[in-house]
Amino acid sequence: MGMCLFLLLGLASVVQAASAPDIQLWINGKKISSAVPPQMVNDRTLVPVYVVKDAMGMNVGWDSKSQRVTITGNSKKIELVINSKKAKIDGSTRTLDTAPVIISDRTFLPFRSVGELLGMNVDWDSKTKSVHLTNATSEKVDKPTSGVTAVKPIAKVASITKIQQTEQGFMIVADAKVDAKTFTMSGPNRIVMDMDKAKLNLKNGSVTNGQQFDTIIKTVRYSQFAPEQVRVVIELDGKASYTVTPSGNNLQLAITETSRNPKPPTTPPPVVTPPTKDEPDQGTVEPAPAPVPIVPLATKDKVKIVLDAGHGGKDSGAVGNGLQEKDLTLGMAQKLAELLRNDSKFELVMTREGDTYPTLQDRANLANKEQADLFMSIHINSGPATATGTETYYYAGGSGKDYANIVHKHLLKATGSLDRKVHTANFYVIKYTKMPSILVEIGFITNASEAAKMKDEDFQQGVADSLYAGIKEYVNTH
Ligand SMILES: [Zn+2]
Repeated sequence: MGMCLFLLLGLASVVQAASAPDIQLWINGKKISSAVPPQMVNDRTLVPVYVVKDAMGMNVGWDSKSQRVTITGNSKKIELVINSKKAKIDGSTRTLDTAPVIISDRTFLPFRSVGELLGMNVDWDSKTKSVHLTNATSEKVDKPTSGVTAVKPIAKVASITKIQQTEQGFMIVADAKVDAKTFTMSGPNRIVMDMDKAKLNLKNGSVTNGQQFDTIIKTVRYSQFAPEQVRVVIELDGKASYTVTPSGNNLQLAITETSRNPKPPTTPPPVVTPPTKDEPDQGTVEPAPAPVPIVPLATKDKVKIVLDAGHGGKDSGAVGNGLQEKDLTLGMAQKLAELLRNDSKFELVMTREGDTYPTLQDRANLANKEQADLFMSIHINSGPATATGTETYYYAGGSGKDYANIVHKHLLKATGSLDRKVHTANFYVIKYTKMPSILVEIGFITNASEAAKMKDEDFQQGVADSLYAGIKEYVNTH
């Protein structure tokens, strides 16, 4: 017992946590008051176990030996392990963006992730610093304070002016607030968004009705479902979770792949690299391939890099301020290609050289077939008009973490934008490429000033220079 307590205290000192008393937590329209303040770890809100138990009404079990928290409810069973980002939901494995932790002898669970795993809608309102979890099937009810007669304002009928593709899903652009209910249907798996008091009035820059994708999103359809109701249906090629984040009048729908229907890429799944020192071994993995002697990049004669300009051809990527993502990514990729071609250390392969459309699978397959040492995909972000900044992604199950951190450091200096940090994601091209792979999001095409900068040739050259510097630093140190 004494040993156990010692261990727990030991763990507690490792976690960079700060209490976050000013964050408001809401569950199905009810504000949660917690005697123990939530904690912030890596920008994520973690709540004490009893919030999940009492406020969400879940059954919570704890096995101290295996450090395992089991949550049952909403006809789901979720298993979480302290300090592990791997979670199990009804037997299948998911990666969380932050792990459960023990702080001062108390177990804290990631609020947002638990809600998502339970199939709840998760909304973040940055103005009031509130996280809202809502049961997907339950209606949001604004409860009037007792004794006060609620006068329901007559809601204006909103025009849906754009259904825009974003990196992680779609953005619904409206000219007034819309009340959306989002839920899932199966056979085939779909995410359905019903917006009340809304009319379709689409302008340029929307996805076409019935447009096909080759990601976890198979196709998107939309219709004026009822005189004042717009329905958007996203058909999935497998299983996915989603979040809806309101932003002004707009709604951001982010879709995260859980599993893909069995139509695997022609190459095997990513090779699992040994766990790095700060990540615990994460359970079952694919059988390890025959060991290949690892030659440090710094000592190699040639480092082969596959460079991917995001989107292209029929896929414009995000659009905004008169620009298309596919043109900006190509402009930057071509400038970076020039630098790499003039450096005898590198052998360059590009996924596209012009306005063509290789599928995501084509791009990942090319990198694997070429047995590239490094992969980089260049993208431009989209979001609400006020969103700005630079971010870099790597796949949590891959080997791109150091590469992402080093390139991001250089890129940020070139863009001079808000640091939106390095994150993990399941984007296809970084998930299914076997070498260290990253995806950079230079800035936001939907922000007028960032769009103007990114269109500028000198700025593009600066970005290319910084990516080149990042690649070189990574190669020299790995
Ligand atoms: Zn993109």
